[in-house]
Amino acid sequence: MTVETTDRGTLPDVPMVIGGERVEPKSWLDNIDPSYGEFLCRVASGTAGDINRAVQSAKSVAKEWAGQPPAVRGALLRALADRIRQEADALAVLETRDTGKPISQAKADIAACARYFEYYGSVIEAFVGHDIPLGPAFLALAERHPYGVTGHIVPWNYPAQITARSIAPALAVGNATVVKPAEIAPLTPVRLAELALEVGFPAGVLNVVPGEGPTAGAALTDHPDVALISFTGSVPTGRQVAQRCAARGRPCTLELGGKSPHVVLRGADLDRATPLIMQTLLQNAGQTCVAGTRALVHESLHGELIERLANGLAEMHIAPGLDDPDMGPLISAGQHARVRGFVERATAQGVDVVTNAQPPADLTGYFVPPIVFDNVNPASEIARDEVFGPVLAVTPFADEAEAVALANGTEYGLTAAVWSQDIDRALRVARQVEAGQVFVNGYAAGGGVELPFGGFKASGHGREKGLAALDEFTQTRTLVVKLADGE
Ligand code: NDP
Repeated sequence: MTVETTDRGTLPDVPMVIGGERVEPKSWLDNIDPSYGEFLCRVASGTAGDINRAVQSAKSVAKEWAGQPPAVRGALLRALADRIRQEADALAVLETRDTGKPISQAKADIAACARYFEYYGSVIEAFVGHDIPLGPAFLALAERHPYGVTGHIVPWNYPAQITARSIAPALAVGNATVVKPAEIAPLTPVRLAELALEVGFPAGVLNVVPGEGPTAGAALTDHPDVALISFTGSVPTGRQVAQRCAARGRPCTLELGGKSPHVVLRGADLDRATPLIMQTLLQNAGQTCVAGTRALVHESLHGELIERLANGLAEMHIAPGLDDPDMGPLISAGQHARVRGFVERATAQGVDVVTNAQPPADLTGYFVPPIVFDNVNPASEIARDEVFGPVLAVTPFADEAEAVALANGTEYGLTAAVWSQDIDRALRVARQVEAGQVFVNGYAAGGGVELPFGGFKASGHGREKGLAALDEFTQTRTLVVKLADGE
């Protein structure tokens, strides 16, 4: 399905891709355009039977795919990256129609999606095992092997990026894959599977089965021929997936979101920090696992930061994604209700509201305004739980020890930013923050494809991105040869 126009009409049905074919499902689900709350298209409602067909298809080609030289697999991944770039504008429109995110953010997502295939298609040729020196009587090798069939459960917030992040390293090392995208945002994952076939990926190596989590997602998790699950989503569902994998004795990687802090230390440069605090709050309307949703600020900068945030956020443009605003809608009516619930409970508890500008009244989609709560009690819900909306909790602190305690004071540990012009102070604090990625005087890094990524604590385990992902999607076989004594 190629979407060239940016009009608001409905889109063609989105089927499954199994065994190299577009497959019609037995039943369909309605997909809603979050910018308008209107019907967008029908998407396949994959069943356990469809998942089984996809797994069997992947299994039938897994050995052959694994047996290809890395150069061959790498070339196909890089060809897919090129094909994604050729179709980048249309893919970005699909992503925006499906998720509501501003089109410039969707374009950045598609660029990152292409980068994943390019990066893993390049580094795979240099991915090697190692030998182990045991003396002249032995030859000992640690070889890296793919698992076979891997399952990839993808959420709705970054469908193209997270699909690519998960499958590109898995495919590069020689696994055959089955993707279960979120049923409310499967458009770009399905299109990626079609593009992969166009550039010559063997049928069955990449299957995409949209469907509901408790049916299609659970069937993938439980399937006896799926050797590893890569999951991104909420803590409760992730834990359920992990338990079901454990019941089969299978590994899984979990990326489960966060409550990431900006730690603004004494003497920080607010000219640098404030725009990124706003950007990481508004990006994808706060529905980002690495969203910076807590600002922990030294008391000497507290008043000034609040004033800057209030002024900056008051000017934000909120509109449908294709209008390329600063912030679009939330993904769904359900997410809208969830975010409003957090806001209403915090407001009812009397937490100070700094800014709460309403979106234009004529908007019919799932919009909420960006909201900043000040002087937030670190023990409160709004300071501890992942809202997944544009809601910032600001808490002042008096010294470094308090800053570190606050930063580490939630069950999450995905990312953090530390802001200070004093490099000693910044590094001292950064090294004490319990998070899988810590940035100093910045936040994220242009897609961060090269940077190992994953959580501490409840934010999950396993590492995606960078070379670390190649280890996650392979297992080590140690091969030892005993040499006969010489004559
Ligand atoms: P979920 O964790 O339920 O969904 C993530 C993925 O898991 C989706 O593909 C979903 O399918 C699938 N899934 C759901 N139930 C099962 C199951 N029993 N077995 C296997 N797969 C399953 O998140 P929600 O969409 O419900 O969002 C709720 C909250 O989760 C958000 O508000 C946010 O806080 C957090 N979240 C975090 C994300 C992150 O990037 N870390 C991404 C998305 C959400 P389907 O949606 O089709 O049912």
